[in-house]
Amino acid sequence: LYNQLQDLKGNIRVYCRVRPSTVGQPSPISNIDEGSITLVIPSKNGKEGKKTFNFNRVFGPSSTQGEVFSDTQPLIRSVLDGYNVCIFAYGQTGSGKTHTMSGPDNYTEETVGVNYRALRDLFKIRNSSHNGINVPDANLVPVSSTSDVLHLMNLGQKNRSVSATAMNDRSSRSHSCLTVHVQGRELASGNSLRGCIHLVDLAGSERVDKSEVVGDRLKEAQHINKSLSALGDVIASLAQKQSHVPYRNSKLTQLLQDSLGGQAKTLMFVHVSPEPDALGETVSTLKFAERVSTI
Ligand code: ADP
Ligand code: MG
Repeated sequence: LYNQLQDLKGNIRVYCRVRPSTVGQPSPISNIDEGSITLVIPSKNGKEGKKTFNFNRVFGPSSTQGEVFSDTQPLIRSVLDGYNVCIFAYGQTGSGKTHTMSGPDNYTEETVGVNYRALRDLFKIRNSSHNGINVPDANLVPVSSTSDVLHLMNLGQKNRSVSATAMNDRSSRSHSCLTVHVQGRELASGNSLRGCIHLVDLAGSERVDKSEVVGDRLKEAQHINKSLSALGDVIASLAQKQSHVPYRNSKLTQLLQDSLGGQAKTLMFVHVSPEPDALGETVSTLKFAERVSTI
């Protein structure tokens, strides 16, 4: 059932989320509705131009973690039907990627992010027969400790058919990926099903100012920008149903190859900040998002 719902919408979805303002200045975002966001962009001749970007869903500054999760839940549950799922958080540093995926450091039941809610949702269905799947016993296995995984390990109760791996940390200069493998057996047919979900908090997408970083830092920053654009290229070519998908152009896309394309399902959360001084990055983030969107 979850899949039937998802299939109607296609396998690639792009959601946009605007975080609340911290400075309270007038925002270049002039309108937000369910499926679009409009920016006022000053042009060279001193006039202002408006540009509207369309997405599967747009979450404004007052959207709650619960609202964001409830639109994501059907996709997450399709893992239980044996599908592979990737959820990415994209955007410049400070735009709210970690907030969406993990929540704030001192999260509460209300403010906790998609990662925790997804794991809790997958654990809860164990032994439930809503979709005819019984999830057998297994363990939660952390491969490397990060603060995110420590939080998630609080969920590591016994008899869960979930294993999790993680790489990197909360730093904005690295990608952070939580992978959950789910195995199950269809009660009616006895067929075994395997699905996995990757929850990826990407490195900040901001362009690097070459005057500010040198040496290894510059190389690292260029590497990150290269892997983000390679990810964009892969999703864009999938969205356009091109026959050649350039997975080999980065480690990130090679690693996720089995979960991008084919029957796999992808959700990109693109994050933007409402502040006027972020406008340049906001425009390039939304252009990136528009390119990977099927709308
Ligand atoms: P990023 O991971 O993209 O660098 P963060 O998620 O760390 O950005 O967000 C930057 C700051 O803004 C944090 O203090 C975070 O708690 C806050 N923030 C981001 N998005 C929201 C939101 N939707 N609601 C409330 N606070 C938010
Ligand atoms: Mg972050």
